[in-house]
Amino acid sequence: MAEGSKLRYILFDLDDTIYPRSSGLMDIVGSRIRQFIVNQLHLQPEVAEALQRRYYQTYGTSLRGLQDEYHIDPEAYLAYVHDIPLEDYLQPDPELDRILGCIQLTKVIVTNGSAEHARRVLNRLGIAHHFRSIVDIRALNFFNKPDPRAYERILELLQAQPSECILVDDAPRNLAPAKRLGMTTILMDGDAEDGVDYHVACIADLRQVLTPLGCFNDGARPSPETSGGKA
Ligand SMILES: [Mg+2]
Repeated sequence: MAEGSKLRYILFDLDDTIYPRSSGLMDIVGSRIRQFIVNQLHLQPEVAEALQRRYYQTYGTSLRGLQDEYHIDPEAYLAYVHDIPLEDYLQPDPELDRILGCIQLTKVIVTNGSAEHARRVLNRLGIAHHFRSIVDIRALNFFNKPDPRAYERILELLQAQPSECILVDDAPRNLAPAKRLGMTTILMDGDAEDGVDYHVACIADLRQVLTPLGCFNDGARPSPETSGGKA
């Protein structure tokens, strides 16, 4: 973890991080991405799936691959892949709401998806009020995590130093560049990985990581001073 600098921000990935993978929502997003590729490039589903896999490995997202190789309109992509009835997958989560309220850092969503999708997810879960801002793929100038330019952009937007930031993400490879910059990194719902400072099974387990860092207050003690956070 970063030493010698006060933590100010906790940056949450959205999909499969702020809600659990078991919701199945990302499986549906994945199949919408595949269908988008089928429709746009007139490919058989198996070919589209192989392309989707290659894009994920090469670029981090299918959108980046489609932009670079086919000049696909990113707005058409984002509208299509996120057109999902969220209420079928996510429920309001009062416990998540309570836990986020205990975290004494300014909370920001950083997503390779769209801000509209993020806002809908946060509203559905009943946690939107915890987040100061959503940094989406447009705000990242379409440089998705794990492209190093995404992290430079995040820091520029927040006017923050890496050592002031914690990044929580379910993808180890999205955490590695953050760690190299000097952010504190927490892997959600994964195995211990090299280059990651901490790993947790769920948002509730952030308590064990954040309490020793002085960033978690369950109400038993007065709030520590935070810089811009919702104390
Ligand atoms: Mg994710």
